[in-house]
Amino acid sequence: MESFKEGILQVVSKIKSSVLLDTKELDSIIRELQRALLKADVEVKLVLEISERIKKRFLEEEHPPGFSKKDVLIKILYDELVNLLGGETTEELAIKPIPYKIMLVGIEGSGKTTTAGKIANYFKKKGYRVGLVAADTYRPGAYDQLKMLAESVGVMFYGDPQERDAVSLAKKGIETLEKAGAQIIIIDTAGRHKDENSLMEEVKVLYRELKPNSVFLVVDATQGSAVARQARAFREAVPYGYVVVSKMDGSAKGGGALSAVAASNARVLFIGVGEKIDDLEPFVPRKFVARLLGMPDLDAILQRFAEFSKYEKERAKAIAAGKITLLDLKEQLESIKKLGPLSKIAEMMGLQVKVTGEEEMSVDRWINIMNSMTMEELLNPDIIDSSRIRRIARGSGVTPRDVRQLLDAYKNMKKMVKQLSRSRRVGL
Ligand code: GDP
Repeated sequence: MESFKEGILQVVSKIKSSVLLDTKELDSIIRELQRALLKADVEVKLVLEISERIKKRFLEEEHPPGFSKKDVLIKILYDELVNLLGGETTEELAIKPIPYKIMLVGIEGSGKTTTAGKIANYFKKKGYRVGLVAADTYRPGAYDQLKMLAESVGVMFYGDPQERDAVSLAKKGIETLEKAGAQIIIIDTAGRHKDENSLMEEVKVLYRELKPNSVFLVVDATQGSAVARQARAFREAVPYGYVVVSKMDGSAKGGGALSAVAASNARVLFIGVGEKIDDLEPFVPRKFVARLLGMPDLDAILQRFAEFSKYEKERAKAIAAGKITLLDLKEQLESIKKLGPLSKIAEMMGLQVKVTGEEEMSVDRWINIMNSMTMEELLNPDIIDSSRIRRIARGSGVTPRDVRQLLDAYKNMKKMVKQLSRSRRVGL
């Protein structure tokens, strides 16, 4: 079975091997993405939404200079996949107050009991004293399973195979473990009952009586987008804030499960990636998608975009303040150059001026010099001191005097613009 990752890798390789990245190629890449997402059981509605957004952004957003079309598309794909799988989240679970009570809910077979052991192990490794409570009084074997997990992890355990009443059992468990010094108490609850209604009823009463600090819903990745129904059913019984998606290893439908949880506005906190006790990972959509795309150079692309958007903001500030930067001068010169040689432009405009070879040269030379400047220098020419001047001169193969000349011309231009706007203000 093709995994979610394999499907996404196909999309990436299609982007990499594209030639023009025109609308035809874009459409075929989007179709490949749709195929990969549908195979991963992502809901059709979400698939259509992400396709539309990627297409629209690629065609309508201005592509920043210096980025190839492929880089831009990869960046948009990355953004939108992160968005689909839960968005930017950096927040970690805050273990406060202590003892911190976590109640686990989820239907039988979702991997709840195994996950209880994994979470206990995770927090134990972080240095907490952890206790597990076996409050699933319905499934025979749940008690033994959790007890064994607690022993193998080396955390405290409370259970009572004779007790039928989950609420009084859990209350006793919390009390006992708290007295024994547990800082985190994890309560495993039943995942099956006579029927769904009585299961939800028990979950509701447990929540009301135990007042946990957090409720985690455990769902099984192999269920794909069907977890949306479970998420809704449990939401009516308990306000869970976090979800653990188990069995992400080897499930081709992991993408469907993750996107369904994200669409329900819950946050996936952990994913289960195997049957062993260590097979639990905090889920960070950004990191997950980066791994999914499998591109060693992705970090570099994202870094360049982040830098670019930082400078875009600075530039917007400069524009708002009516400041002219060297970047403006550079862009002006570049667009003039596109029209042809200066002498030609002057001729076309019917200007009587004679453009000398010297002036023609200096436009090229100035652009060249500015290419050796950093974005920071272009946006804040005031920071260009003599050591920077020497570096820029070396980089562009001119003398420091040439760089100074350019800076002087820039200063004159700034002065002119200032006078112009002043005269405009006084109505001249
Ligand atoms: P519960 O009924 O919800 O308590 O489910 P269990 O904890 O008993 O798990 C059901 C089955 O799923 C067991 O065989 C587990 O070993 C298996 N399981 C749980 N989590 C994972 C996981 O992340 N990956 C894999 N491959 N199997 C898992």
